[in-house]
Amino acid sequence: MASPAAAQNSPSTALDSNAEVNAFLNQVATRNPGEPEFLQAVHEVATDIVPFTADKPQYRDARILERMAEPDRIISFRVCWTDDNNEVQINRAYRIQNNNAIGPYKGGLRFHPSVNQSVLKFLAFEQTLKNSLTSLPMGGGKGGADFDPKGRSDAEVMRFCQAFMTELSRHIGPNIDVPAGDIGVGGREIGYLFGQYKRLNTRFEGVLTGKGPSFGGSLIRPEATGYGVVYMMHNMLAHAGQSIEGKTCLVSGSGNVATFCVEKLNSMGGKVVTLSDSSGFIHDPDGITDEKLAYVMDLKGNRRGRIDEYAKAFGCDFVANARPWIVPGQLAFPCATQNEVNEKDAADLVKGGCQAMAEGANMPTTPAAVTALQEAGVLLVPAKAANAGGVAVSGLEMSQNSLRYAWTRDEVDARLQTIMRDIHEQCAGYGEQTGGGLDYLKGANIAGFVKVADAMLAQGVN
Ligand code: NDP
Repeated sequence: MASPAAAQNSPSTALDSNAEVNAFLNQVATRNPGEPEFLQAVHEVATDIVPFTADKPQYRDARILERMAEPDRIISFRVCWTDDNNEVQINRAYRIQNNNAIGPYKGGLRFHPSVNQSVLKFLAFEQTLKNSLTSLPMGGGKGGADFDPKGRSDAEVMRFCQAFMTELSRHIGPNIDVPAGDIGVGGREIGYLFGQYKRLNTRFEGVLTGKGPSFGGSLIRPEATGYGVVYMMHNMLAHAGQSIEGKTCLVSGSGNVATFCVEKLNSMGGKVVTLSDSSGFIHDPDGITDEKLAYVMDLKGNRRGRIDEYAKAFGCDFVANARPWIVPGQLAFPCATQNEVNEKDAADLVKGGCQAMAEGANMPTTPAAVTALQEAGVLLVPAKAANAGGVAVSGLEMSQNSLRYAWTRDEVDARLQTIMRDIHEQCAGYGEQTGGGLDYLKGANIAGFVKVADAMLAQGVN
């Protein structure tokens, strides 16, 4: 049966775009029950794309957006492993191969108890548009498992990674699908996963990104997402005639993205006063200097401790079970997880003088919070543009692996800066100027969509 949207879509018929967006979303909701995160992500994109395609029959007749919102493939599998007490553990894992119109599937792996099909489908859908924005040849995918690495020994993490890759390896390859890290998957996990892939396939090839530099990893890859978020903020502020210098910055999270975001903000003259983890946030009004940041990187990266230890070490406040958005500051960088800025948080941010937000985490802002921020004139650059630096350098890692060559740190960083500048220009090209400044959400959605859509059209109905 034709979809409600398609059934009504004669190219020449002008429909009320809200009704059409709702019809499209009802159809997606019916096909994907119990998947709120996925529906939230599709909703946010459809709100811009359905009106954009209203006078573009080539996209509407080929039902491009509907096809993008239906993953090419969902692989779900069981992962069994033994813990240090010799007890059998069972986890559920997935790889969502969303769209490979412009290149092999590409996107991270997440190990976190909250992982389910809805979360990974939202991430894979977003990843498709994000990868398109980088201008590199990468399709969209995402994967992971409901495994919690917290409190697990290195040996347990290794056995889990080996069991996970034993199944995943048959579905991936350098020209098929190239996973990377995400929440709970850093350099340690990528190393174990790569080792198991190599053992199973007897091939040393660029099947994962985020590898260690001694076995094919790109320099700057660990830093790339956090640095890229700050480069995007820099571009956005420069466009509005402002700069990062001297501004108070609120950062959430204390993992990979958050810590390198702080490092780059410090180097560009920002003053970062918050960090968080799932237990609460710290507020250090004196600023999280490079020296204090080194403490956090060791605490979270090596010792796998909790952020309240920072407060004890440096004598500042720790607020349990709360998020940093109640602290006054001009620039906000949510870098922990999805939906970590709600409508009340948005109101607090506005009250505290927030002028701009760049999303380091994926979909950290709820739809109501997005509306509240935009109405208050806060410049907001969405994750698919702001955090694309990570996957962009993953793409550069793939290029270096194919070339069997390694670029220097400066070369990779220069390419990253160019890519982030180019993403800003694409967003500015498609985003309308509103009262509060450029609409980066619309710009990112449309720019990301057009490239994938044109490739899908060229490749016929498949
Ligand atoms: P990490 O695992 O390194 O760090 C995640 C941080 O977020 C930790 O501080 C963690 O706290 C906190 N966190 C995780 N879940 C929750 C939760 N439910 N509530 C509160 N805090 C939480 O992950 P990354 O830094 O790699 O990823 C952070 C975000 O950035 C994610 O949205 C990810 O998808 C996105 N991203 C990451 C990229 C990358 O290259 N790594 C690329 C693009 C996007 P705790 O220590 O207590 O778990």
